[in-house]
Amino acid sequence: MEIKPEKKEKFYSLPVEDIIQKYRTSYDGLSSTQVRRLQMEYGENKLSAGHHKTYLEMFIEQFKDFMIIVLLAAALIAGLIAHEWTDAVIILAVVILNAIFGVFQESKAENAIEALKNMATPKARVKRDGDIQEIDSTDLVPGDIVVLEAGDIVPADLRLYETSTLKIEESSLTGESIPVQKLGTTITEPNVALGDQKDMAFSGTNVTFGRGTGIVVSTGMNTEIGQIASMISENDDTTTPLQRNLSQLGKVLTYIILAISALIFLIGMVKNDANWIDMLIVAISIAVAAIPEGLPAIVTIILALGTQKLSKRNAIIRKLPAVETLGSTDIIGSDKTGTLTLNQMTVEKVYTDRQLLDSDVGLDQQDMTLRIMNFANDSQIQADGTLLGDPTETALIKFGQKNDFFIQDELKITPRVNDLPFDSDRKMMTSINQFGDNAYLVMTKGAPDEILKRCNQYLQGNELHDLTEEDQKDILDVNNDLAKQALRVLGFAYKVIDEMPSPINSDTIENDLVFAGMVGMIDPERPEAKAAVAEAKQAGIRTIMITGDHQVTAQAIATRLGIISENANEAVISGSQLSQMSDEELDQNVEQYSVYARVNPADKVRIVKAWQSKNKVVAMTGDGVNDAPALKAADIGIGMGINGTEVSKNASDMVLADDNFATIVHAIKEGRKVFANIQKSIQYLMSANLGEVLTLFVLTIMGWDILAPVQLLWINLVTDTFPAIALGVEPTEKGIMKEKPRGRNSTFFSGGVFPAIIYQGIIEGLITLGVYYWALNFPVHTDYAMIHHDAQTMAYVTLGLIQLFHAFNVKSFSKSIFQQNIFANKTFNWAIVVSLILLGVTILVPGFNQMFHVTQLNLSQWGVVVLGGILMVVIVEFVKLFQRVFSRKGN
Ligand code: ATP
Repeated sequence: MEIKPEKKEKFYSLPVEDIIQKYRTSYDGLSSTQVRRLQMEYGENKLSAGHHKTYLEMFIEQFKDFMIIVLLAAALIAGLIAHEWTDAVIILAVVILNAIFGVFQESKAENAIEALKNMATPKARVKRDGDIQEIDSTDLVPGDIVVLEAGDIVPADLRLYETSTLKIEESSLTGESIPVQKLGTTITEPNVALGDQKDMAFSGTNVTFGRGTGIVVSTGMNTEIGQIASMISENDDTTTPLQRNLSQLGKVLTYIILAISALIFLIGMVKNDANWIDMLIVAISIAVAAIPEGLPAIVTIILALGTQKLSKRNAIIRKLPAVETLGSTDIIGSDKTGTLTLNQMTVEKVYTDRQLLDSDVGLDQQDMTLRIMNFANDSQIQADGTLLGDPTETALIKFGQKNDFFIQDELKITPRVNDLPFDSDRKMMTSINQFGDNAYLVMTKGAPDEILKRCNQYLQGNELHDLTEEDQKDILDVNNDLAKQALRVLGFAYKVIDEMPSPINSDTIENDLVFAGMVGMIDPERPEAKAAVAEAKQAGIRTIMITGDHQVTAQAIATRLGIISENANEAVISGSQLSQMSDEELDQNVEQYSVYARVNPADKVRIVKAWQSKNKVVAMTGDGVNDAPALKAADIGIGMGINGTEVSKNASDMVLADDNFATIVHAIKEGRKVFANIQKSIQYLMSANLGEVLTLFVLTIMGWDILAPVQLLWINLVTDTFPAIALGVEPTEKGIMKEKPRGRNSTFFSGGVFPAIIYQGIIEGLITLGVYYWALNFPVHTDYAMIHHDAQTMAYVTLGLIQLFHAFNVKSFSKSIFQQNIFANKTFNWAIVVSLILLGVTILVPGFNQMFHVTQLNLSQWGVVVLGGILMVVIVEFVKLFQRVFSRKGN
């Protein structure tokens, strides 16, 4: 059902002049004073965000966790039935502390995700005070004049009044995925459905082709999309596949641990004849201690912190899973222009009159090549002379100015009456200008090979000649020579017509042209790109260049950047060769190619799929509207913040704020670090849990004093949490970019983490039990109960200390703690100090020690306890040493 706003005006049937008057605007746009007033009146142009949870709501939600409910029940039993009020209060305090941590983690993660959203504000091109400006689309007001281009997301509801082959895909509103041809002429029928309002452009829809201009008629929640509430619901991108995998594992673990707890309960009851309430509380504490309920939250927080780091390095994450996937990237498919190169074009060579010239040789203002490059050009010249637009085009305007050719003046005599905008499938664009009553000049510029296909004559010495195959070959040879020098080559052609064909499209216009000339433009490589390609290579990541540019230019630049070696012709393939290959053939041969030239955006999808069929994780860049499918198909779609279209940014998982290839490699490095740090947290927490369960299990079987529930809960829910989070912000380990990618199917437990959890958990348990055993055999007291009480205290302190020591072990999976700067992570140092204090308070502060059921230890007992902690480091150091020696031998 379509929800219609009440009394919404039928803007589509109002004459444009009426709308102009209604909003007191003009074709030159609003004035800045008007804009300020209207912004006050209408507010920001954005859809109001969904409901934000308050802290209280978040807090209450923490108590919905099954284990927490069980714990609360335990507190109740302890208090009401067993009259252990101190236990009840402490359990309650632990639960509340845990909930506060939960809220802290959740809000931190949410803030980070919110910040990301704000960073990706879409832009709009608007005419104000007579000038075209690029502004945040949130600043638009009704009455603004907006210019649309292929690749834009329509920023507000617009009444169009000028269009050039404008097509808009409106599936988000109408469900219709075929783009609609839009027109600037007023619709006269009285009642027209949304999909047929061809003189309107609606907020949130995608411009797929052409150009258009319109007046903003509604913004924000007043737009059509704003009226459809369900569209606003945010998609749930906040959990990652590995996180889901982890919570699934968590569920299985929960059942296993519940079974173990039940077993401990039974053994305690039957064998040790314990009080059932005490035993029940112990069993519940074990379950709470061992079930890794906090892990998914810790993973989210580490991922979210990762996104903040990344954004500081110009990589803006739009979807959280990208952080996780980044680290596993095997292949980077990158565009050339603007990503590997600077997209700062300068004309170096001109080929006109069938002669190749240096760019500093002055050209005659009547030179046809010079004229076409300026006329068939969409750059905007601002009042102050600055140039706005595609660098390829502005370079040509600058070249014109250098030769005293000023297009603004020329357009007054020969105005543009129509055009066919550029698209990367045709690889050309055309301007049609009028120079007499029935005389039009069609001027086309584009890829020379494509242009030549549409020419049958050439211009030399003001005369037209037939274009023979020989001539074509000569011209293409010049093109090749220029391309070999890594120049980007554009060709120019024209024709004169006396009648406008109908319809006006590429087939009716871009044919029977006269070839005029070419230019070769230099677009320097980004200085840091070569090093980044090399760094990626060392990390086992392959860089592939995919470009619309000419094969020879692409090869020359790829060689300079180290993507391919000198004369590696077999690694280069053109779009036309690619189109002759079946998908199966491409799958088989994909590893051979590193450079794809003159490809269409649709080919990118095939390349992504071919690599994915080899089980590789593919990151792919894209900037144009047609790149959106490839960006979606890739494991990580990478959009361009500066030169990318809004549609492509919207389809990507990550946007580069600086369009720079090197940023991708940095981001992968950061992604690897984040993944490694998550593994550290998991390894730390899970080995601790295992150690605890093991200790308790054996103590129960032996019939010894089990750790008090409050002791267990304190270690597990309070002191462990800080080091676990702090491990998530460990600095990047050296050599992280010397390892191979971890593989598509890896999980947080891959790379030896699972066995590490097991053996380290067992050692933690054994040391704790060892200390308990020592206390029994070298008692300070004579009283049996006191001896056990001491032993229990020592086991508690040992377990706590071991974990703080073990946190240092976990900092590197294979490196010794002596091979690293173990105090480099300030957060970690503080976490250890805080945890140490929290542990110390329960033992050393009078009053607390009673609540926590601990005795006073003497010096030798302290000595043993600390030795236990140190032993944990010594043993793990030995294991790491063996691993290092073993892996060196294995290599
Ligand atoms: P990449 O795909 O690496 O970004 P690219 O910019 O060359 O490279 P496209 O934008 O698809 O890729 O352009 C393809 C070809 O179309 C270019 O090589 C050039 O010959 C031609 N071309 C590019 N921009 C224009 C333009 N504004 N007008 C006319 N032709 C153009």
